[in-house]
Amino acid sequence: TDSLLQKSEKLAIVGQMAAGIAHEIRNPLTSIKGFIQLFRSNTYQKEYYDLVLTELDRINIILGEFLVLAKPSVVVFKENDVRTLIEDVVTLINTQSILNNVQINVDMNESIPRISCEETQLKQVLINILKNAIEAMPNGGLIEIKVQEKQKGKLSICIIDQGIGIPKDRISTLGEPFYTTKEKGTGLGLMTCYRIIESHNGTFHISSELNKGTTVEITIPTINQPYIPIMIQ
Ligand code: ADP
Ligand code: MG
Repeated sequence: TDSLLQKSEKLAIVGQMAAGIAHEIRNPLTSIKGFIQLFRSNTYQKEYYDLVLTELDRINIILGEFLVLAKPSVVVFKENDVRTLIEDVVTLINTQSILNNVQINVDMNESIPRISCEETQLKQVLINILKNAIEAMPNGGLIEIKVQEKQKGKLSICIIDQGIGIPKDRISTLGEPFYTTKEKGTGLGLMTCYRIIESHNGTFHISSELNKGTTVEITIPTINQPYIPIMIQ
């Protein structure tokens, strides 16, 4: 379970987000109301129904992402092998990458130190980053996942895409709730990533070049203390 500090941090962020969510949900609700009024006046057409369904989907997505953050989930940190974790994530995202003409390469040494992590959360982080990478390459391309122990005691995972990139003056905005440049975006993905990596005592860094691509680097402390038996007299 969460520590008291984690709990109060969660409550604070949930409170901040509630206002943003109310705002985000008001927009689709206003347009749904408008279309319902149109239906009443008898001029309705199929496309209006489709628009209403789209707006309802949007509300659903926003609430879904919010619930992932707000819901008290059981957090279990365990020793994990990053190799299987990444394999699972790549399998999960495979359909979406194939549909978008995106190839995913994984570059990883034979011996990668283990880390202590909450498996579901870390998978969520990788999925959010990979989704963004795929969405940044509308004409397809290559995503590289590089895993290495660059610095002793720190496992680095880089996700490198060849997408549209992010303008320099926008980099600092990333991770703020609801910042999105996508028509169907929620702007909650990166914020979730930052918070999860923070709770793993890791770092999260984004570098990008317009029209060249973006690199997201996560580092997580490794478990590589040798086993020292303690003698009890
Ligand atoms: P969403 O994907 O719903 O827009 P995110 O929090 O995942 O929300 O991302 C916020 C914004 O950051 C995106 O809308 C996009 O503008 C930018 N972004 C994130 N990752 C990338 C990337 N790999 N390439 C280009 N832009 C990105
Ligand atoms: Mg996203």
